Amino acid sequence: MISFYPGPSKIYPSVESSLQEAFQSGILEMNHRSEPFMNLLAETIELLHQKLNIPTEYHICLTSSATECWEIVFQSFVKQSSHHIFNGAFGKKWYQNAIKTATFSEFDAENTIATANIQKADVYCITQNETSSGTQVSMQDLWQIKGELPADALVAIDATSSMAGVDIEWQLADIWFASVQKCFGLPAGMGIMVYSEKAYQQAIEVNDRRFYNSLLFIHDNFKKFQTPYTPNILGIFLLNDLLKKLEKIEQVADKITQRANKLYSFFKNETSLELLIQNESVRSDTVLAFKHPQIDLLKSQAKKAGIILGNGYGNHKETSFRIANFPAISDEEFEILKQFFLKI
Ligand SMILES: *Cc1c(COP(=O)(O)O)cnc(C)c1O
Repeated sequence: MISFYPGPSKIYPSVESSLQEAFQSGILEMNHRSEPFMNLLAETIELLHQKLNIPTEYHICLTSSATECWEIVFQSFVKQSSHHIFNGAFGKKWYQNAIKTATFSEFDAENTIATANIQKADVYCITQNETSSGTQVSMQDLWQIKGELPADALVAIDATSSMAGVDIEWQLADIWFASVQKCFGLPAGMGIMVYSEKAYQQAIEVNDRRFYNSLLFIHDNFKKFQTPYTPNILGIFLLNDLLKKLEKIEQVADKITQRANKLYSFFKNETSLELLIQNESVRSDTVLAFKHPQIDLLKSQAKKAGIILGNGYGNHKETSFRIANFPAISDEEFEILKQFFLKI
């Protein structure tokens, strides 16, 4: 079966041998304060900087999921209030998880983020790639909206379904996060958080140290290449091994954008499928969403052809399906997908 599900999603085939290597290396049985573990963590963070072009002045830590990162933003970075700008289910869920004062501005999924009605806050929360509707906020639009926000506020961006697939301009925000089961093409169970020195300074001001996952506590541990709790050592090993094999993000992102363009024109010109979003300029490169009148029938036909399509999500759950354009999925697999849609 080929999975086009946008998370958990197709895993890079090389992970199979990495799993075995992890087992044989003995690292999985080692203490997480031991030298070998600290070396593994140090190297993994260095590789993230290198392969994803994360500037050296940004800090990186690992968490257990993107959802946990939502919570860390509230606990450790928000002073008084956050303002959430979203157009779909994931952005809304982040807002609904708020444990401090939060406001929101919802914009239409057919429009750009520039149409949002911004309110005052000390942390602005934006979802760069809205996995539920298959839309993305371009780097250009992010620059524009950043210019309209108070200069001393933090910008926090959920890039869960784009990090490692899209070439992120890190300076656009103070906090970025994702989890590994989407564009990273790894088994679920880990989140990655990237944050600026400015964000760290705001966390010092907030001074939250109440929780096991308070940012300051995580930060102090990661600076020693340790973790506050026994981490997902296997997940870290797999991430490390994958990053060594991956091309730099410019190359990966280039392929993803080109493939997205080809897919969009294929579906438009050669099939009768209807995309969920009509405005081409806001459609996502990494998650394609379609309207469909007979989702269950389509999914079962696909299954017979060895293809797993992604369900709809949120408001579009019953009336749409999604296809991940993640780097771990090969061009050959997309050919099989195209053949399927040409036949039915
Ligand atoms: C998948 C997803 C999440 C949730 O990720 P978890 O790893 O399950 O916590 C959050 N935000 C977006 C945009 C997502 O696509």
